[in-house]
Amino acid sequence: MRIAILGVGQLARMMALDGIAMGVEFSFLKLPGEDSRCVDCLGSVVTAGPQDSCASLFEALGCPDVITTEKEGVDVDFYEQFSSHCAVYPSSRAVWISQNRLREKTFLNDQGVPTAEFAPATSLEEIAPAAERLGYPVIVKTQENGYDGKGQWWLRSEADIASMQGAEASGPWLLEKVVPFECEVSVVAARSSAGQVEVYPLAENVHRDGVLLTSVVPVESISQAQSDEVKRHITRLLQELDYVGVLSMECFVTESGIVANELAPRVHNSGHWTQNAVPAGQFEQHVRAVLGFPLAPPEMSGAAGMLNLLGVQATAEQALRANHHWHWYGKEVRSGRKVGHINVTAPNLLALKSALAKLQAEIY
Ligand code: ADP
Ligand code: MG
Repeated sequence: MRIAILGVGQLARMMALDGIAMGVEFSFLKLPGEDSRCVDCLGSVVTAGPQDSCASLFEALGCPDVITTEKEGVDVDFYEQFSSHCAVYPSSRAVWISQNRLREKTFLNDQGVPTAEFAPATSLEEIAPAAERLGYPVIVKTQENGYDGKGQWWLRSEADIASMQGAEASGPWLLEKVVPFECEVSVVAARSSAGQVEVYPLAENVHRDGVLLTSVVPVESISQAQSDEVKRHITRLLQELDYVGVLSMECFVTESGIVANELAPRVHNSGHWTQNAVPAGQFEQHVRAVLGFPLAPPEMSGAAGMLNLLGVQATAEQALRANHHWHWYGKEVRSGRKVGHINVTAPNLLALKSALAKLQAEIY
């Protein structure tokens, strides 16, 4: 079997590392100028030039059985074209919905999944009236291409709109009412082409400067009923989208319930802990799902967590302590950049949090 991945980053790398162990072959499609060192040793890397046809790229990729993606920021028409040659999972519809915050939140609400109140704005002039309608404070987000907190402006009052000067070209935007959350959680789930669904336990996420720093499982400050509600939501989304592969959803936990924030039609940074805590982590699960293999049940005991290495190295002594697992992406280390992560497991949450806090204090 052969899978071709759109993208050459660490998510593509980790999918391939797991798939290769099962005898699956990989190839990768990148855009001109993209640095492919994460995946260079894992399969052939093909560069998509502006003149290349889908048919010629399909052949250059080794005529894969499945095309998948490590990112939502793909040209969906181009992605869809591959479906005349092989399976394309997840579907271009799922990618299209999640690559735009307005479509994504509209879709979530249509499926009965609550989100922050939102309003679109296509020009800077539309921001003040839209914010007035929602009520300050609001967050303005670019509808597309935002990640790790980039392309966002927090507005406490109309005067803050001045902070958006120079942002004219980054629209259209989505305004969201600020959600007073108690904590941020995420859920990662998979659906196979045979229709099997498995949902991992929820993780609690802490961000630093808009970038995920740690994930911890199980989530302490959420009730069983709320956790079940999140799992029901993502199961409904998987079924409604006739989804194949791993799907992730970020949520806020508030006093009045769960509020969904974002979907990612792919493996997710907040699911990296699964690599070392359950029978099959999210990367292996994605490979299983898109090839129509049985999914692994996400059984786990004890607690698990992850610390992102954001522009920092770790020593082997730190990263390879008992119950620590080192994942390094082979990228150039630059300030703030995701260059690796360390997964930690422990018999209980208290021990996990203490090990993770020690690691964080040593590394940052
Ligand atoms: P990104 O694509 O950059 O991850 P998010 O929508 O997840 O964008 O926003 C990044 C972070 O900003 C979130 O993890 C959360 O901490 C905060 N945030 C985003 N939207 C809201 C909101 N409506 N209310 C409160 N905080 C928010
Ligand atoms: Mg997010």
